[in-house]
Parts: sequence; structure tokens; C-alpha cells
Amino acid sequence: MRFLELAQAYERLEATTKRLEMRAILVELIRPLRPPDLPRVLYLSQGLLRPEYEGVELGVADSLARRAVALASGIEEAEVGKRTKASGDLGTTVSELLAGRRRLESEGPLEVADVYRELERVATAAGEGSQETKVKTLVELLGRASPLEAKFLVRFVLGTLRVGVREMTILDALAVAFADGSKDARTRIEAAFNLSSDLGLVAGALVERGIDGLAGIGLEVGRPVRPMLAEREPTLADVLERMGGSAALEFKYDGLRVQAHVPKHGAVRLFSRRLEEISAQFPELVAELPKVVKRPPAIVEGECVPIDPETDEIRPFQAVSKRRGRKYDLDRAQEEIPVCLFLFDILLAEGEETYRRDFPERRKILADLLQPGDHVRLADQRIVHDVDGATAYLDEAISEGAEGVMAKSLKPGSSYRAGARGYWWIKYKRDYTVGLSDSIDGVVVGAFSGRGRRAGKYGALLLAVYNPKKDRFESFTKVGSGFDDAALAELPKRLAKYESETKPPEVDTGLEPDRWMRPGLVLEVRGAELTLSPIHRAETGAVHAGAGLALRFPRFTGRYRDDKAPTESTTSQELLKMYRSQVRQAAPSEPDSGDSRP
Ligand code: AMP
Repeated sequence: MRFLELAQAYERLEATTKRLEMRAILVELIRPLRPPDLPRVLYLSQGLLRPEYEGVELGVADSLARRAVALASGIEEAEVGKRTKASGDLGTTVSELLAGRRRLESEGPLEVADVYRELERVATAAGEGSQETKVKTLVELLGRASPLEAKFLVRFVLGTLRVGVREMTILDALAVAFADGSKDARTRIEAAFNLSSDLGLVAGALVERGIDGLAGIGLEVGRPVRPMLAEREPTLADVLERMGGSAALEFKYDGLRVQAHVPKHGAVRLFSRRLEEISAQFPELVAELPKVVKRPPAIVEGECVPIDPETDEIRPFQAVSKRRGRKYDLDRAQEEIPVCLFLFDILLAEGEETYRRDFPERRKILADLLQPGDHVRLADQRIVHDVDGATAYLDEAISEGAEGVMAKSLKPGSSYRAGARGYWWIKYKRDYTVGLSDSIDGVVVGAFSGRGRRAGKYGALLLAVYNPKKDRFESFTKVGSGFDDAALAELPKRLAKYESETKPPEVDTGLEPDRWMRPGLVLEVRGAELTLSPIHRAETGAVHAGAGLALRFPRFTGRYRDDKAPTESTTSQELLKMYRSQVRQAAPSEPDSGDSRP
């Protein structure tokens, strides 16, 4: 495929925010494709070169891209910088600069394959002289590109491709382009993706072996599985009712979710909830897992929390968050903040897939295969049959340092549902029943300039929740408190890569911040209560026409959720549930709830 066709499709994608239109453009784009172009186009359209979990990065800083653009267009770098300030992005600038120029015709038009190969070269350049290699490769590519192609090339390398094609839209398009477009086909395609985390692999299998061929995609050690997620209920009585009277309750540890891949030979690999590889951050887990998980290969999952080495007590999560991204001084970190991984599930045991089995069986397999050690143990669990039993266990969990309990279904069909949120797992935190002390993970979509002591800095942030039905980020609050001086000083740095000159198309809000942000940074807030507001857009109309859900008196808890992708922030539906349960507590006889639970 010509790269120009891809650039033209991007231009059309950029011009729409409607999911159906996007899908139609994508279908038209990918239908004629076969591997290897098909997976490449899918990765490129998400701003990637390889599936996200592989963590392949181009390593192109703004300044490097600016230099490449200057060299390719024969204009001074300073001038390129000036023009970019005016145009808002380097992609637009390069397309303007190249508009009147003659191209190097000698090598023929750019193919997707050429671009992909060259970008791989940029990504793999390492060590001495790598910066020069990157610049040279980019200059050559730009030399062969049309203005439109150059625009998207530059945006791609900078990670600012704004075509906004999300995984869910690509899955929709695959079902239409390569299957019958039915709901069933869509479900099966998504299931294959949830198991493999690789859209390119799924698309390739689909065109080559058809929809039934997807059944051949199974678990592979070293390739992360998209995590199963939990629903919530407002009371333990509700939890038990959902579960059919009995449930396995486990401590809900407040730490980092870790999926550990233990091969028969070779190194253990650890993946975060977002499927990022985090092996390097937890050498003690990497070292201990092969010793304590018997008869590998295995894929196990658990929550990693800091523990006090002297007393074995669980310590606050903040201690482990310091470990994230810390590449140096790991030995010291290990001594100061040792962690323990509490395992709660097993997807592959002794090389056999176990994820389809019911939960009680999985737990038994896990318990049999695990020889608990200093850093890897079994999650605490108790089977309960009534509210009293559940409450007693919750008290115990909280006094032991857990943040609540996780209830798990014991029923037939309680398989591990990769990538799905459902009532097979229900989370319950103590605070939940008393006012709104449950925290909310919001996505930054805008920032407001500060005044007074905060002049020249950001004074407040506009936060949104994710609405998966609409695939939009809907604002719900503006938060300024909870940021201390250090946090304030750090904000511009954290936010720089998300800044946007214009309102990102996937954002919905009635407010106009001083600076828009593309959804990327997720942080935790608490607030007094949820109310309705005409300027916020979370689940607009769900309670009253023209009003969205809004959080009153929000406060940043100090905790960034770097482990969550923006689409994994609190969802608008979760917010609506929180709103409803709060209403129920405030007014037990609420006429439309028909329910008199306290
Ligand atoms: P949340 O992040 O609030 O949606 O809560 C779900 C998360 O709780 C999971 O993704 C895990 O990281 C974490 N968690 C802690 N303990 C458990 C447990 N025993 N079983 C499952 N998940 C747990």
C-alpha cells in the first residue's frame, strides 16, 4: 500500500469524531490489506510500531524532529521553531514548508513498507551516533514525502498523531472488514485480542484463517493477557446477593497489579495492569518467582504491595509507587521498601491453559503450585455465606492493611474473563457506604492558569471520566486543591506531552480551560459528593436533561495513576452508580429507587 493512501485516510479520520464514520474509513482502508501491511497499518494508526506491550519507542525528541524538518526543508531550525509556535504543531509546519518543493522522484512513491522499515530503523538506533542515524533516516523519509505524508510522519514520530483510532474502533472495523460484521464476530475478535493483546496478530489470523481460526490464538508465556476487571456494589448485602449467597472474599490489596509470566527456561517477565513490562522494577520478584512457582511455565496474577520486612505488615501504597520508573538505586529500594506479591489467579499452569476453568478450581491449582516465599505469597481468602461473615472478614482485611475486599464468584462459569469488567469479581471498600469517600481516577483534559501564589503555573486541572459507550472523555470536575508546591512545580513537566492547541475531539466539556490536554495523565481525587451541573458532561442527561455529573470539593490525593491508561480511569457509568448509591443513602425512600436499603 502507498503511504499516501494511509495519510489521506488519516486526514479523513482527523476530520471526524463520530465512531461510525471512523469505522467506515478504517474498513475501507484495511479491507484490501493482507499481512505484513495489515498489522503494520493497524499499529501505525495507533501511533505504534509494535503491539503496545512490547514498549517499542522511537526515541525522537522534539528538538531532533525539528532538526530533521529543518534539514529536509532547507530552513533554519530557529525559523522552524518560530513557525511551529504559530502553527501549533511541527506536522503542520513541515507540510507548509514542503508545499512548494520538488520531491526526490528517483526513488518512487513511499510505500507503507518503506516507512515502516525506516521507522524501525529510527526505533532501533542505539548507542553512539544513534541521534545522527535517527535524524538522517528522518530526513531521507521526509525527502521522499509529499506535504501530507510529511505531516503525519512527523506527528507519528513525535507521538502526536491525532487520528484518535482506539482499539475498540479497530475491533469494530475488523469485524466488518474481515467477518460478517455481526455482534458475535465482534465478540470473538475482541476475545482473541483480550487473550493476546496484539491487534496485528488478531487481524492477521482473521484474514488468513477466518473467524474460526481465531480460536487458535491462545496464551503465550511472555505475551500479556488483558486483565479481568471488577464491578462494584454499594453494600456487602448487594455483593452477596449478586454472587448468589456465597462468595470467596479476598483481601483487596492496595498496590500494583502484576501479571507474572514464568517460563520453563529464561527470565520471568512482569507486566502491569496496562501491560507495560515492569520486570526491571521488581528484581526480587523476578528472582523469587521461578523458585516458588512449581512446574513452570505458568502465568499468574497478583497485587504487589510494600511490606514491612520486620513485621510483615502491609505498608501504604505510596512506598511502592516510588519504585515505579526508578531505574537506579534498585538495590537500596529493595532494602528500604521490599514488596510482596499476593497471588490471586492463575491463567496458565504447567503449560496448560487454566483461565477457562471456574474460579474455585483455579484457586486450588494456584495453591498447589505455589510454595510461598518472602516476596510471593497467596492472597488471603475466606469463603463466606452471609453478611455477618462478610463483615467480619472485611474488618479483618482493613485492620491488616487491605483497602477492602474483593468478592469472587464461585459459580459455574466463573472463568477468567480477560479484558472484561463484570460481576464475577466485585470490589468493596469500607468507606463506600459512608458518603463519597471512594476515590475517583480522573483524566486531565485541560489546565487553568494559576493566580496569586500560583501565578505563572497551573492553578487547577480539568478532569474527565471515560465513557466507553461513546468512547469520549467527559468532564466532571475542576480540581485545584491537594497540590503542594512540589506537585505544582512538577505539573507542567508531567503535562507537557499532552498539551494541545485545540480541544481534543474526544473530550466533552462545557468549560474552556486555558490549555487543552489530550487525555493521558490519570490522577486520583476525592470529593465531598456528586452533584449535577450544566457545565460538566459525565453521563449528561442520565439523571436530568442537560446536566452532567460533577464532583463537589474535589481534592487531589497526591497519587498519580501512571499504571492506568486514560481509558482505564473511572468510567462515567461507575460515576453514575456512585451517584445513585449516594442518593439512596441520603434519601432511603427516593421514589424512583423503589428500594429501602439503608
Ligand atoms: P480498582 O483498581 O479499584 O478497579 O480495583 C481492582 C484492582 O484491585 C485489580 O485490578 C487489582 O489490581 C486489585 N486487587 C487487589 N487485591 C485483589 C484481589 N485479591 N483480587 C483481584 N484484584 C485485586
